[in-house]
Amino acid sequence: GNSWFSRLKRGLTRTRVNLYGLFSGGKIDEEFLENLQDGLITADAGLPASERIIGELKDAIKLKGLQTQDEVRGELISIIASLLEPCEKPLRLDQASPLVIMMAGVNGAGKTTSIGKIAKWLSGQGKSVLLAAGDTFRAAAREQLEVWGERNNVHVVAQQGADPAAVIFDAIVSARAKHIDVVLADTAGRLPTQTRLMDELVRIKRSQGKALAGAPHEVILVLDGTNGQNALAQVRQFDEAVGLTGLIVTKLDGTAKGGVLLAIAEMRRGRPLPIYFIGVGESIDDLQPFKAEEFARALVG
Ligand code: GDP
Repeated sequence: GNSWFSRLKRGLTRTRVNLYGLFSGGKIDEEFLENLQDGLITADAGLPASERIIGELKDAIKLKGLQTQDEVRGELISIIASLLEPCEKPLRLDQASPLVIMMAGVNGAGKTTSIGKIAKWLSGQGKSVLLAAGDTFRAAAREQLEVWGERNNVHVVAQQGADPAAVIFDAIVSARAKHIDVVLADTAGRLPTQTRLMDELVRIKRSQGKALAGAPHEVILVLDGTNGQNALAQVRQFDEAVGLTGLIVTKLDGTAKGGVLLAIAEMRRGRPLPIYFIGVGESIDDLQPFKAEEFARALVG
């Protein structure tokens, strides 16, 4: 709805200034197009995506005989939207019961917060939810998840200091017994370079299949949007280790680097990775299903 879009637009303010301000109503010349490309790069869209977008824009200006910066802006929005389109894929809630979603990412990326927000969103979709506190190492992580559980009135399976694989296994078994629709499994933050922790993540993933064949059905990497290009390496390395099915990009409200979504889309061209949600603020409703066209409009419009 309208408020959704204004929230998105407001959230993207800091990224948006890199592009929006360039449309001052002047000439469509080489300098203007160079500034646009620089704007994309400053927004952390990366060189390959920026070059492709501006290349396509130049072709369109010629082919369609675009005359005004307003027309160019419309074209830019549609080029960015088509680049992002393959990443727009709703999370399929009906693919399994319970649907098991494992969340991974580095420390502070926004995993626990996003789980809390998704739990709320799922309740709104009429789904019952169970949270699994797979970060058994940090007591604060479990407590934070329990706060989100209380807020959403959903049960949290937790056992401080236990094997995270066992906690998530138990959560899945319990969800099966209680006919819960969705299990959201938190995991401890880890860097892709921490081999032992990455091996642990592989083990956590594998043991879920023993609680329920096919689980986890979704393996979602949560990315801190303020990290910019660093996100690309994380996507590559986490995908190699555990096979990602989707992404969540958080904190787009606190950054000028929101163009990183374009860099990700470009990197995964032909093998798109869904961006299920984006985080554009700290309120519970500031986690939004990703929509390519609206994102492009909020960025440039
Ligand atoms: P985790 O270590 O990956 O579980 O990260 P947390 O969920 O604890 O989040 C780390 C910090 O980022 C917290 O202070 C959150 O409030 C904050 N955060 C998460 N998502 C967003 C977002 O979309 N926007 C903003 N501004 N802050 C966020």
